[in-house]
Amino acid sequence: MRVLAVEDDPRIAADLAAALKKAGFLVETCRDGEEAWFRGDTESYDLIVLDLGLPKLDGLTVLKRWRAGGCETPVLVLTARGAWTERVEGIDAGADDYLPKPFRMEELVARARALIRRSVGRGAPLQAHGRLALDPARMEIAVDGAPVTVSALEYRLLSYLMLHRDRVLPPGEILEHLYGDEDSREANALEALVARLRRKLGPGIIGTRRGFGYFLEGGAG
Ligand code: CA
Repeated sequence: MRVLAVEDDPRIAADLAAALKKAGFLVETCRDGEEAWFRGDTESYDLIVLDLGLPKLDGLTVLKRWRAGGCETPVLVLTARGAWTERVEGIDAGADDYLPKPFRMEELVARARALIRRSVGRGAPLQAHGRLALDPARMEIAVDGAPVTVSALEYRLLSYLMLHRDRVLPPGEILEHLYGDEDSREANALEALVARLRRKLGPGIIGTRRGFGYFLEGGAG
């Protein structure tokens, strides 16, 4: 899951990035509204956390421009404490949720997970498909009910496949959501990762459709 965190306060930005990273997200940060608008407009994220008080271009304007440009990424807005007008304006401008400052990072992470689930029409916190089960709150994986230890990167791949389990995912799309744009890897890095996961999980979990990409196999094994 790839997240853009837009926050100009360096201390909050660092805390945000650390908390989201710890929860298994790939996090990119930026500190002003112009860069935020550009990145949200040109890159593909699973979630954007947006502070409203930003230099160069305020968060509300950024959000309106994204929505006007057709960007449908879920946006969690950070508002000043007690500023109810900001919350109303934020929601009217297309925010999916808001969190008043100061907030607990645990709440932010929980809301981030819920927003991503809802954005693909899946409300249940525990996700299962075929023989694979995934617990986003604990970052745990199980096959046929037996826990399997996976790395952060392996978990990120499985959670992306799980979230989009109704389609075959092209390698380019997976790579973008695994590594982001700044650190883009070759397709063979993905092949190696999938091979490693298949050894851990056993057969019948990650399927390949030649020439198209990867998918989660759904048949009860
Ligand atoms: Ca700010």
